[in-house]
This record gives sequence, structure tokens and C-alpha cells, in this order.
Amino acid sequence: MKAEIISIGTELLLGEITDTNAPFLAAELPALGIDLYWVSQVGDNQARLAKALKRAWQRSDLILTTGGLGPTADDITREAIAEVMGEKLKGDPALERDLREFFTRFGREMPLTNLKQTNLIPSAQAIPNPNGTAPGWWVERDERIIVAMPGPPREMQSMWRETVLPRLRQKAGGTVIVSRILKTFGLSEALVAERVSAQLSSANPTLGVYAKTDGIHLRLAAKADSREEAEAMITRVEPHLRQAFAEHIWGTDSDALEAVVGRQLAKEKLSLAVMESYTGGLLAASLSGCPEAAPHFKGGLVTVSDEARVACGVDYRLIAEHGGESPEAAPAMAEAARSRLGAAIGLGITGVDEVDAAAAKTSGVYHIGVVTGREQRLASGRYPGSRLRVRRWAVAAALFELWKVLAD
Ligand code: AMP
Ligand code: MG
Repeated sequence: MKAEIISIGTELLLGEITDTNAPFLAAELPALGIDLYWVSQVGDNQARLAKALKRAWQRSDLILTTGGLGPTADDITREAIAEVMGEKLKGDPALERDLREFFTRFGREMPLTNLKQTNLIPSAQAIPNPNGTAPGWWVERDERIIVAMPGPPREMQSMWRETVLPRLRQKAGGTVIVSRILKTFGLSEALVAERVSAQLSSANPTLGVYAKTDGIHLRLAAKADSREEAEAMITRVEPHLRQAFAEHIWGTDSDALEAVVGRQLAKEKLSLAVMESYTGGLLAASLSGCPEAAPHFKGGLVTVSDEARVACGVDYRLIAEHGGESPEAAPAMAEAARSRLGAAIGLGITGVDEVDAAAAKTSGVYHIGVVTGREQRLASGRYPGSRLRVRRWAVAAALFELWKVLAD
């Protein structure tokens, strides 16, 4: 099956919003064995959209569109599809009933403009939208399919998951690509690539090495005639990679470091407190914003000055002797956070930017202390790049240290 995606909306072409719907759909298609050949963006203009649809109808088996299903005059996706198919729009009584019910549920009168969302053409079936007023369209004719979904990503994604994906899974049935991502921390991209150099030339499954903000990712992708077969291919290779990187692999696929750490804390019934100067609260923000970690996170202290460190419980003699941005300060900050906030584990981050003006380069040197009732660890690192980049990296490094402590 050859597919193409059309993202509809003038905001896209004005650069006011970024198209996130097309990348989402693009990432879903390989697992279905559907090849994506074209992606385009069109404004809210019926003539131009009809042109894009006509071209797509000639060259693709599956056309996925998002946007333009709203109630206002500039939402013209239905009209354009009807035009291209040469079919007449007609209000569907069942859809109208559903829509009226939707409004009643929220205690509101239905504006008449919404009625156009109940229109269908003979080749179209409505796709339910549990999160909004715009039903999608499933159009099938001449061995081609058009799926029109709403623009808001939340509505589009739930419609995709609940209805479109299962239906396409039945229709498609070509080559399937299944991938598995292993996420590592603590080794450079070059080192990771070196350790897997033999596998990097494998044609199927392929192996890719990618540097990300939370470490180096290894991505295995297997191509086969069925999902089961592709999964089996991955299962054969994955243990070798796991063996090669054992103590560095902290997660897989969509795992996030803070969530993985959160699950470890939950399992061990441990709480966490942090004191950060270098990262200025970024670590606390990531922990408190993560549903898995937040319940075990007692809080964070942002201590950028020595006065603040001392006021929050770090021994002034240690600061006087070594400085607040020293390796010695990190475990002391961790211990202070732990005892001040009454947590089982304390974590401290401090550090300093090193600016090489001559080379126009900055690198951040950070120190991370982790303190539990039984042990104390210190890890230091250096990372190049902008302040924000280095700070994000330090957050990942801190979470990774914590992950190691909790894994032991
Ligand atoms: P529409 O259904 O075209 O009226 O779109 C409604 C809203 O959904 C837009 O204002 C955007 O906020 C969002 N939206 C539409 N298309 C996209 C897209 N391709 N990527 C991300 N957001 C989108
Ligand atoms: Mg729009």
C-alpha cells in the first residue's frame, strides 16, 4: 500500500503552528507495512485542496488528511473531497442526533454552523470522535481510501488509535517494520558505535545509533512479512546488544528516564529530595512533571549561591574549603536535601561553565552526588554546547546516577 499525508490548515503555511500530525502518522505507518511516499501541506482553500487530493488520488492507495473538519467556513476538507469524488454532500440524521447530544451534555445550544459536520457523501462513512464535534471520514472507492481526521492532535490521535489503525491493520498486509529502541547513558556515541560495529552493517534487522538528550539510543528495525516474524528477528538480536551494554541500558522504546526512576522509587518504596545549583530547578521540574516520579519526589531546593547552600544545610566549612561548585559540594548538597526534606535519598547537582573565549566554545562541568542511608556516590562529567543543552544533559546524568543506585 502506497500512502500519502496531507496536512490542511493555513496556519501551517504561515508558520504559526508546526505540523505535528504528519510526523505522528508517518511514525505509525512502518509497523503496518504501509509505505509513505509523499507528505504535503495545503491551506484552507478548496480549489488548492481539491487539486492536491486529485493528484493524491492518482498516485496513492491511501490518503490521510488532518485538519479542516471544523464548523467554520474555512474548514473545507469535506467539501473538497466531495468535489474530487464528484459526489453530493448530504446531512446524516444519525450524526446530527449525536452532535446535538454532544452539545446537550455540555449544557449548550448547538450553533447551526456545526450542522455541516454532519454531512456525508455516499462513499464516506463517519468515524466517531469521542473528544470533539468533528467526526472523521472514511472514504473508500475504486480500491483507494481517504481517511480525513480532525486537526487537533489529541482528537486526531485518539481517532487514529481507536478506529483508523485497527481498520488499516486489517487492510494492509505487506511488509511490516518493527523497531526496538534501547536507551543507554554513560558512553559516547563513538564508543557505542564501535562496540556494535559488526551489527551496524546488518541489512535486516538494521541497527542505528543516535545521540539524544537522554543518552545514546540504539534502534533495531526488522522488516518481515508479518509482525510476529519481525518481532522474532528483533528478539534474536536484542540479547547480544543487552549483553554488550548491560549496565548502560536504562530503558526501551518510549521510556523516559524520570519515569523509569519513578517506577524504581515506587518499587523500593523510597522518597527523593534534590538540591540543584547548576541545573537551576530543571531536575525538579522534570521529576515533578512526571506522573511516575512525582508521588515519590519530596521536593527540590535551588541553591545558586553559597549563602543559599549554607542556609539550606550545607556545612559552611566545606564550602569555604572547596567551594560550592566543587565535586566535594555535590554529595554535601545531596545530604542536606535528604535531611532537610526528610527523604530516603538525596541528590545534589553543582558545576560550572567553562568558557573558552578563544575557541568560542563552552563546556559544562557538572558534579552529581547521590546519598542514601547506606552509601554516597559522586559522578562528574563534562559536556559541550549551549547552557541549556549542558544543563539538560546534567539532568539526564543525575537521573542515570540515581537509576544505577536504585538498580544495585
Ligand atoms: P482545524 O481542524 O484545521 O480547524 O485545526 C484545528 C486546530 O488543530 C488548529 O488550530 C491547530 O491548533 C491544530 N492543528 C491542525 N492541524 C495540525 C497539524 N498538522 N499539526 C498540529 N496541529 C494541528
Ligand atoms: Mg483549520
